[in-house]
Amino acid sequence: MENILKSRNIKPTAMRILVLEVLAGQDAAIGLPELEQLFDRADKTTLYRTLKVFEEKKLIHRIDDGTGSVKYALCPANCECLPEDLHLHFLCTSCKKTYCLPDIPVPTIQLPGDFSVESVNMVAKGICSKCNQVA
Ligand SMILES: [Zn+2]
Ligand SMILES: [Zn+2]
Repeated sequence: MENILKSRNIKPTAMRILVLEVLAGQDAAIGLPELEQLFDRADKTTLYRTLKVFEEKKLIHRIDDGTGSVKYALCPANCECLPEDLHLHFLCTSCKKTYCLPDIPVPTIQLPGDFSVESVNMVAKGICSKCNQVA
């Protein structure tokens, strides 16, 4: 964990390692309320600051899956969070989990002349593999 933080030029503190461990242990993106619950005893300001640092250093990205609540997920290694690094997100309508699909890049969009893109938000909705197995 420490090496992951160092590779992103983040000073490894106990709190940062903890937050990273939690994020790395998730199979889906995690929302702020869930994180707050997990870090019940920790100072919320420290948690927010940690997330902000992670986001600035491009260790995590926030996901807007259309549900109105912000979710976070780890970025793939070497991700620079540039438009060409963006990938599809998948919102399961059954378990309400949001998954990163880093193998499916968001297609480059040809915009008319004076338009420049900063980010593209692509969210697919459906049933995830886990929910499909249960069914
Ligand atoms: Zn599901
Ligand atoms: Zn993602």
